[in-house]
Amino acid sequence: MKGMMMHRPLRIADILTFGEEAHRDAEIISVTVEGGIHRTTYGKTAVRVRKMANALQNLGVKLGDRIATLAWNGYRHFELYYAISGIGAVCHTINPRLSAEQMVYIINHAEDSVICVDLTFVPILESLKDQIPAEMKFIIMTDQDHMPDTSLKHVLCYEELLKACDSNIEWPEFPEETASSLCYTSGTTGNPKGSLYTHRSTVLHSLTAGISFPETMRAGVRILPVVPLFHVNAWGLAYVAPLVGASIIFPGPHLDGKSIFDLMDSENVFSAWGVPTVWLGLLGEINNRGRIPKGFGEVIIGGSAVPRSMVESFENLDVSVCHAWGMTEMSPIGTNGRLSPIHARLPMSEKIDLKVKQGRRVYGVELKIVDDSGNRVPHDGVSNGELYVRGNMIISDYYNNPEATSAAMDSEGWFGTGDVATLDSNGFLTITDRAKDLIKSGGEWISSIDVENMAMSHEHVSNCAVIAIPDPKWDERPLLIVVPKPEQEPDPKSILAHLAKNLAKWQVPDDVVFVESLPLTATGKVSKLTLRKEYGETN
Ligand code: AMP
Repeated sequence: MKGMMMHRPLRIADILTFGEEAHRDAEIISVTVEGGIHRTTYGKTAVRVRKMANALQNLGVKLGDRIATLAWNGYRHFELYYAISGIGAVCHTINPRLSAEQMVYIINHAEDSVICVDLTFVPILESLKDQIPAEMKFIIMTDQDHMPDTSLKHVLCYEELLKACDSNIEWPEFPEETASSLCYTSGTTGNPKGSLYTHRSTVLHSLTAGISFPETMRAGVRILPVVPLFHVNAWGLAYVAPLVGASIIFPGPHLDGKSIFDLMDSENVFSAWGVPTVWLGLLGEINNRGRIPKGFGEVIIGGSAVPRSMVESFENLDVSVCHAWGMTEMSPIGTNGRLSPIHARLPMSEKIDLKVKQGRRVYGVELKIVDDSGNRVPHDGVSNGELYVRGNMIISDYYNNPEATSAAMDSEGWFGTGDVATLDSNGFLTITDRAKDLIKSGGEWISSIDVENMAMSHEHVSNCAVIAIPDPKWDERPLLIVVPKPEQEPDPKSILAHLAKNLAKWQVPDDVVFVESLPLTATGKVSKLTLRKEYGETN
């Protein structure tokens, strides 16, 4: 029997309309590219979004057109999210840290017709202009006073476009499966691959995120997304915050520890979201000042495995850590490490054991782990294999890339994450490694994450990475690359002895290399590909 309920298409525009009505005065605060802080509310933002939607339609933007953004986390970028998707066009966020070659590839692959660009990134587009379509329009995300002299053609000023437009719009209706936004993963090999989200997947992801982080996702809470709007929709934050009435504090272009500390301190940020490398900078600043920023209570860490020492540092400061795992292809949240009330009674060290794991699945994401023959492995916390996922917020296909799609999907329609993991009987996921980062030494697997975690707990190690290097006897051996803490005389013997106390003998690297900093990927993770190239991996 068919149920008798209305079926209204889920639309992104309705999120902001709801925020405008229910959480009118919740704030959006942005560090601007031009200098200074900009303050606004969901109420005022919704008006500007409608104007920008009209402006885009006046420019001829139609349903399905791809409109790119190349911008920091700020209020205009947020407005574009809603204006572009609201009229049924596709908001294609470009990661400005991609190489020129990758950027040209994705602009052309996505067939963008307009690029909205922050002042900072105008020179990048000037250098690429001969490799992208000549008829491309550029909207410079600033006001008339700050418009640059530029060699780009077809240039428009964001604030001037708004001025000329009406703030009334009837948001168009279209099926909820309509494409809403597009994000390319900065693949470590081959060309980037596009995840094309829908209005439906985005709204469902927002509802899931809203119930999965109840401490953060509440009216009155102030959230700092250091995770960029150009990387998987800032982990969905731009869509969840207006639903729940949380205020957003956008850091703009200043992402160093000192700037983040000052912004959090002055804006009373409770919950901060980002990858581990960002938090190393903030912890350094907290250490220098001997205190945490005012109001700081929670840090959501994802994108790479969080080292145990980082969880300990934050928890010792009374900042609660929630470790989350996900992927661009998953909108992105897959699991989160919130503990249950029953865990409150555990001693601190056991709570930290749990927090270092990647957590339990969120509603709407199914997980399965399979061995090399495709058989499911037991959920015993030990048996590991490749992690597959299924759900309404996960891609069914890569955008215009059938080869990548068929390589990623299994015969039952699950998406292969490329991560190697275990699940325990309580549903906690542990990512052992990226499949390609695992080290196989003398026939035994070594998890680079385990070795890194242990090395990070040495008092002289500020950051580190472990990679496989070729070895004539063992095939591969782990190499430890360490950034020492400032003013420490690094001692390889002491670090290796520390590892030997805690790891099996064959897991301990034979050598340590000291470096000033580790290379990062476009999304701020340690680039093991670059390290492998540098230290001589052959495969
Ligand atoms: P991206 O799509 O660029 O965000 O990268 C997704 C990949 O990042 C995942 O497949 C994992 O390999 C890695 N990743 C994300 N979150 C975590 C985490 N909490 N722990 C370990 N690896 C992670």
